[in-house]
Amino acid sequence: MTVLVLGGTAEARALAGLLLEAQVRFVSSLAGRVARPRLPVGAVQIGGFGGVNGLRSYLAEQRIVAVVDATHPFAEGMSRNAVEACTADGVPLLRLERPGWSDRPGADTWHWVADHDAAAALTATLAQRPFLTVGRQSLHRFVGPLADHRAVVRVVDPPEIELPEAWTLLQSRGPYDLDDERAVMATIDALVTKDSGGDHTWSKMRVAGEMGIPVVVVRRAAAVAGVETVPSAREAADWVVRRSTH
Ligand code: NAP
Repeated sequence: MTVLVLGGTAEARALAGLLLEAQVRFVSSLAGRVARPRLPVGAVQIGGFGGVNGLRSYLAEQRIVAVVDATHPFAEGMSRNAVEACTADGVPLLRLERPGWSDRPGADTWHWVADHDAAAALTATLAQRPFLTVGRQSLHRFVGPLADHRAVVRVVDPPEIELPEAWTLLQSRGPYDLDDERAVMATIDALVTKDSGGDHTWSKMRVAGEMGIPVVVVRRAAAVAGVETVPSAREAADWVVRRSTH
Protein backbone atom coordinates (compact mmCIF):
# COMPACT_ATOMS: atom_id res chain seq x y z
CA MET A 1 0.00 0.00 0.00
CA THR A 2 1.19 3.47 -0.81
CA VAL A 3 0.14 6.74 0.80
CA LEU A 4 0.19 9.89 -1.33
CA VAL A 5 1.32 13.11 0.32
CA LEU A 6 0.41 16.23 -1.64
CA GLY A 7 3.27 18.48 -0.68
CA GLY A 8 5.10 21.72 -1.29
CA THR A 9 5.18 22.84 2.34
CA ALA A 10 7.45 22.48 5.36
CA GLU A 11 4.71 20.42 7.06
CA ALA A 12 4.66 17.99 4.12
CA ARG A 13 8.44 17.59 4.39
CA ALA A 14 8.14 16.98 8.13
CA LEU A 15 5.44 14.39 7.47
CA ALA A 16 7.66 12.62 4.92
CA GLY A 17 10.37 12.36 7.59
CA LEU A 18 7.91 10.87 10.10
CA LEU A 19 6.49 8.38 7.58
CA LEU A 20 9.97 7.25 6.60
CA GLU A 21 10.77 6.69 10.27
CA ALA A 22 7.52 4.75 10.71
CA GLN A 23 8.41 2.63 7.65
CA VAL A 24 5.21 3.55 5.84
CA ARG A 25 5.34 3.28 2.06
CA PHE A 26 4.57 6.71 0.64
CA VAL A 27 5.23 9.10 -2.22
CA SER A 28 5.29 12.90 -1.97
CA SER A 29 4.13 14.97 -4.90
CA LEU A 30 5.17 18.50 -5.83
CA ALA A 31 3.65 20.79 -8.45
CA GLY A 32 7.07 21.64 -9.90
CA ARG A 33 6.51 25.40 -9.72
CA VAL A 34 9.81 26.45 -8.14
CA ALA A 35 13.12 25.98 -9.90
CA ARG A 36 14.98 24.42 -6.97
CA PRO A 37 12.40 22.95 -4.61
CA ARG A 38 13.30 21.77 -1.13
CA LEU A 39 12.75 18.06 -1.55
CA PRO A 40 11.24 15.82 1.11
CA VAL A 41 12.92 12.55 2.06
CA GLY A 42 11.63 9.44 0.32
CA ALA A 43 10.05 8.99 -3.09
CA VAL A 44 8.98 12.17 -4.87
CA GLN A 45 7.01 12.77 -8.03
CA ILE A 46 7.12 16.20 -9.61
CA GLY A 47 4.41 17.74 -11.79
CA GLY A 48 0.63 17.88 -11.78
CA PHE A 49 -1.66 14.90 -12.27
CA GLY A 50 -3.82 16.44 -14.99
CA GLY A 51 -6.88 17.60 -13.08
CA VAL A 52 -9.33 15.46 -11.14
CA ASN A 53 -9.40 12.71 -13.77
CA GLY A 54 -5.62 12.55 -13.89
CA LEU A 55 -5.47 12.31 -10.12
CA ARG A 56 -8.09 9.56 -10.11
CA SER A 57 -6.05 7.56 -12.64
CA TYR A 58 -2.92 8.08 -10.54
CA LEU A 59 -4.68 6.89 -7.37
CA ALA A 60 -5.82 3.74 -9.15
CA GLU A 61 -2.55 3.01 -11.01
CA GLN A 62 -0.36 3.52 -7.97
CA ARG A 63 -2.82 1.74 -5.67
CA ILE A 64 -2.96 4.68 -3.31
CA VAL A 65 -4.70 3.71 -0.09
CA ALA A 66 -4.84 7.12 1.55
CA VAL A 67 -4.04 10.72 0.65
CA VAL A 68 -2.72 13.46 2.92
CA ASP A 69 -3.29 16.88 1.41
CA ALA A 70 -0.45 18.84 2.97
CA THR A 71 -0.41 21.57 0.32
CA HIS A 72 -0.19 25.25 1.18
CA PRO A 73 -3.38 26.82 2.59
CA PHE A 74 -3.62 28.87 -0.63
CA ALA A 75 -3.15 25.95 -3.04
CA GLU A 76 -6.92 25.80 -3.30
CA GLY A 77 -7.15 24.14 -6.73
CA MET A 78 -5.11 21.12 -5.67
CA SER A 79 -7.09 20.74 -2.44
CA ARG A 80 -10.40 20.86 -4.34
CA ASN A 81 -9.17 18.22 -6.81
CA ALA A 82 -8.04 15.99 -3.95
CA VAL A 83 -11.47 16.14 -2.32
CA GLU A 84 -13.22 15.39 -5.59
CA ALA A 85 -10.95 12.51 -6.62
CA CYS A 86 -10.84 10.89 -3.18
CA THR A 87 -14.59 11.19 -2.72
CA ALA A 88 -15.26 9.67 -6.13
CA ASP A 89 -12.99 6.71 -5.48
CA GLY A 90 -13.58 6.25 -1.74
CA VAL A 91 -9.94 6.91 -0.87
CA PRO A 92 -9.50 8.25 2.70
CA LEU A 93 -8.30 11.87 2.67
CA LEU A 94 -6.73 13.87 5.47
CA ARG A 95 -6.05 17.59 5.29
CA LEU A 96 -2.88 18.74 7.05
CA GLU A 97 -3.17 22.49 7.40
CA ARG A 98 -1.11 24.71 9.60
CA PRO A 99 -3.23 27.09 11.68
CA GLY A 100 -3.62 30.62 10.32
CA TRP A 101 -2.58 33.80 12.07
CA SER A 102 -6.01 35.13 13.04
CA ASP A 103 -5.36 34.42 16.75
CA ARG A 104 -1.85 35.83 16.81
CA PRO A 105 -0.93 39.07 18.58
CA GLY A 106 -1.84 42.08 16.46
CA ALA A 107 -4.31 40.21 14.24
CA ASP A 108 -7.16 42.47 15.31
CA THR A 109 -5.26 45.50 14.02
CA TRP A 110 -4.63 44.09 10.53
CA HIS A 111 -6.75 44.79 7.46
CA TRP A 112 -8.33 41.44 6.57
CA VAL A 113 -9.53 41.13 2.96
CA ALA A 114 -11.28 38.38 1.04
CA ASP A 115 -8.90 38.04 -1.90
CA HIS A 116 -5.94 39.48 -3.75
CA ASP A 117 -8.01 41.98 -5.74
CA ALA A 118 -9.40 43.44 -2.52
CA ALA A 119 -5.86 43.51 -1.09
CA ALA A 120 -4.59 45.40 -4.13
CA ALA A 121 -7.44 47.95 -4.04
CA LEU A 122 -7.04 48.62 -0.32
CA THR A 123 -3.24 48.77 -0.48
CA ALA A 124 -3.45 51.40 -3.22
CA THR A 125 -5.24 53.70 -0.76
CA LEU A 126 -3.07 52.85 2.27
CA ALA A 127 0.50 52.97 1.05
CA GLN A 128 3.02 54.46 -1.31
CA ARG A 129 5.72 51.80 -0.84
CA PRO A 130 3.90 48.54 -0.07
CA PHE A 131 5.86 45.36 0.54
CA LEU A 132 4.19 42.56 -1.46
CA THR A 133 4.85 39.09 -0.05
CA VAL A 134 1.93 37.36 -1.76
CA GLY A 135 3.85 34.97 -4.00
CA ARG A 136 4.82 35.20 -7.64
CA GLN A 137 1.58 33.76 -8.99
CA SER A 138 -0.62 36.45 -7.42
CA LEU A 139 1.44 39.46 -8.45
CA HIS A 140 -0.52 40.16 -11.64
CA ARG A 141 -3.53 41.09 -9.49
CA PHE A 142 -1.53 43.98 -7.96
CA VAL A 143 -0.01 45.42 -11.13
CA GLY A 144 -3.02 47.52 -12.22
CA PRO A 145 -3.95 49.09 -8.88
CA LEU A 146 -0.32 49.62 -7.79
CA ALA A 147 1.40 50.47 -11.08
CA ASP A 148 2.27 53.97 -9.84
CA HIS A 149 3.28 52.91 -6.35
CA ARG A 150 6.88 52.11 -5.43
CA ALA A 151 6.10 48.56 -4.40
CA VAL A 152 8.78 46.22 -3.11
CA VAL A 153 8.14 42.64 -4.24
CA ARG A 154 9.75 39.57 -2.68
CA VAL A 155 9.67 36.27 -4.57
CA VAL A 156 11.61 33.01 -4.65
CA ASP A 157 11.66 32.61 -8.44
CA PRO A 158 11.50 35.45 -10.97
CA PRO A 159 7.95 36.56 -11.86
CA GLU A 160 6.64 35.54 -15.30
CA ILE A 161 5.04 38.94 -15.81
CA GLU A 162 6.69 42.28 -16.43
CA LEU A 163 6.60 44.40 -13.29
CA PRO A 164 5.93 48.16 -13.32
CA GLU A 165 9.09 50.25 -13.60
CA ALA A 166 8.55 51.84 -10.20
CA TRP A 167 8.64 48.46 -8.43
CA THR A 168 11.69 46.91 -6.77
CA LEU A 169 12.20 43.16 -7.05
CA LEU A 170 13.83 41.20 -4.23
CA GLN A 171 14.54 37.63 -5.23
CA SER A 172 15.38 35.46 -2.26
CA ARG A 173 14.23 32.48 -0.30
CA GLY A 174 13.48 32.48 3.43
CA PRO A 175 13.52 31.81 6.24
CA TYR A 176 14.03 35.45 7.22
CA ASP A 177 14.95 36.40 10.77
CA LEU A 178 13.83 39.54 12.57
CA ASP A 179 16.89 41.53 11.50
CA ASP A 180 16.39 40.56 7.83
CA GLU A 181 12.81 41.77 8.04
CA ARG A 182 13.69 44.96 9.92
CA ALA A 183 16.13 45.87 7.13
CA VAL A 184 13.49 45.50 4.38
CA MET A 185 10.68 47.02 6.39
CA ALA A 186 12.65 50.18 7.08
CA THR A 187 12.06 50.98 3.39
CA ILE A 188 8.32 50.28 3.09
CA ASP A 189 5.04 51.66 4.47
CA ALA A 190 2.64 48.67 4.37
CA LEU A 191 2.97 44.89 4.40
CA VAL A 192 0.75 42.74 2.17
CA THR A 193 0.55 39.01 2.83
CA LYS A 194 -1.66 35.95 2.70
CA ASP A 195 -2.76 34.27 5.92
CA SER A 196 -0.14 31.59 5.35
CA GLY A 197 0.09 30.84 9.06
CA GLY A 198 2.81 28.92 10.86
CA ASP A 199 6.14 30.21 12.12
CA HIS A 200 8.28 30.10 8.98
CA THR A 201 7.18 33.52 7.73
CA TRP A 202 5.99 34.99 11.01
CA SER A 203 9.01 37.34 11.46
CA LYS A 204 7.63 39.87 8.96
CA MET A 205 4.35 40.07 10.89
CA ARG A 206 6.15 40.61 14.17
CA VAL A 207 8.40 43.30 12.73
CA ALA A 208 5.41 45.08 11.13
CA GLY A 209 3.83 45.16 14.61
CA GLU A 210 7.02 46.49 16.21
CA MET A 211 7.37 49.21 13.58
CA GLY A 212 3.67 50.16 13.48
CA ILE A 213 3.42 49.30 9.78
CA PRO A 214 -0.12 48.64 8.45
CA VAL A 215 -0.69 45.03 7.44
CA VAL A 216 -3.10 43.80 4.74
CA VAL A 217 -3.90 40.09 5.05
CA VAL A 218 -5.70 37.96 2.45
CA ARG A 219 -8.01 35.53 4.23
CA ARG A 220 -7.99 31.80 3.53
CA ALA A 221 -10.90 30.21 1.74
CA ALA A 222 -13.23 28.32 4.07
CA ALA A 223 -12.12 24.73 4.73
CA VAL A 224 -13.98 22.07 2.75
CA ALA A 225 -16.69 20.64 4.98
CA GLY A 226 -16.41 16.98 5.84
CA VAL A 227 -12.66 16.61 5.36
CA GLU A 228 -10.84 15.60 8.53
CA THR A 229 -8.18 18.20 9.23
CA VAL A 230 -5.16 18.19 11.54
CA PRO A 231 -2.75 21.04 12.27
CA SER A 232 0.56 19.20 12.54
CA ALA A 233 2.74 16.67 10.73
CA ARG A 234 2.82 14.55 13.91
CA GLU A 235 -0.96 14.17 13.94
CA ALA A 236 -1.02 13.45 10.21
CA ALA A 237 1.62 10.73 10.65
CA ASP A 238 -0.43 9.18 13.47
CA TRP A 239 -3.51 9.15 11.19
CA VAL A 240 -1.53 7.39 8.44
CA VAL A 241 0.01 4.85 10.81
CA ARG A 242 -3.42 4.08 12.32
CA ARG A 243 -4.70 3.40 8.81
CA SER A 244 -1.79 1.21 7.81
CA THR A 245 -2.02 -1.00 10.88
CA HIS A 246 -5.77 -1.70 10.59
P1 NAP B 1 -2.97 25.17 -7.03
O1 NAP B 1 -3.25 26.46 -7.72
O2 NAP B 1 -3.89 24.72 -5.98
O3 NAP B 1 -2.82 23.98 -8.06
C1 NAP B 1 -2.81 24.15 -9.45
C2 NAP B 1 -2.37 22.84 -10.06
O4 NAP B 1 -1.00 22.56 -9.76
C3 NAP B 1 -3.12 21.64 -9.54
O5 NAP B 1 -4.37 21.48 -10.18
C4 NAP B 1 -2.14 20.53 -9.87
O6 NAP B 1 -2.11 20.27 -11.27
C5 NAP B 1 -0.82 21.17 -9.56
N1 NAP B 1 -0.40 20.94 -8.17
C6 NAP B 1 -0.52 21.76 -7.11
N2 NAP B 1 0.02 21.22 -6.02
C7 NAP B 1 0.49 20.02 -6.39
C8 NAP B 1 1.16 18.98 -5.70
N3 NAP B 1 1.50 19.07 -4.40
N4 NAP B 1 1.50 17.86 -6.41
C9 NAP B 1 1.19 17.75 -7.73
N5 NAP B 1 0.56 18.71 -8.43
C10 NAP B 1 0.22 19.83 -7.77
O7 NAP B 1 -1.50 25.19 -6.41
P2 NAP B 1 -0.47 26.41 -6.25
O8 NAP B 1 -1.08 27.43 -5.36
O9 NAP B 1 0.04 26.77 -7.59
O10 NAP B 1 0.67 25.66 -5.42
C11 NAP B 1 1.55 24.78 -6.08
C12 NAP B 1 2.44 24.12 -5.05
O11 NAP B 1 3.17 25.10 -4.32
C13 NAP B 1 1.67 23.30 -4.02
O12 NAP B 1 2.40 22.10 -3.85
C14 NAP B 1 1.70 24.14 -2.77
O13 NAP B 1 1.71 23.35 -1.60
C15 NAP B 1 2.99 24.92 -2.94
N6 NAP B 1 2.93 26.27 -2.35
C16 NAP B 1 1.93 27.11 -2.71
C17 NAP B 1 1.89 28.37 -2.13
C18 NAP B 1 0.76 29.31 -2.44
O14 NAP B 1 0.76 30.41 -1.87
N7 NAP B 1 -0.18 28.98 -3.30
C19 NAP B 1 2.89 28.75 -1.22
C20 NAP B 1 3.91 27.85 -0.90
C21 NAP B 1 3.93 26.60 -1.48
P3 NAP B 1 -2.97 19.11 -11.95
O15 NAP B 1 -4.37 19.64 -12.04
O16 NAP B 1 -2.29 18.92 -13.26
O17 NAP B 1 -2.90 17.91 -11.05
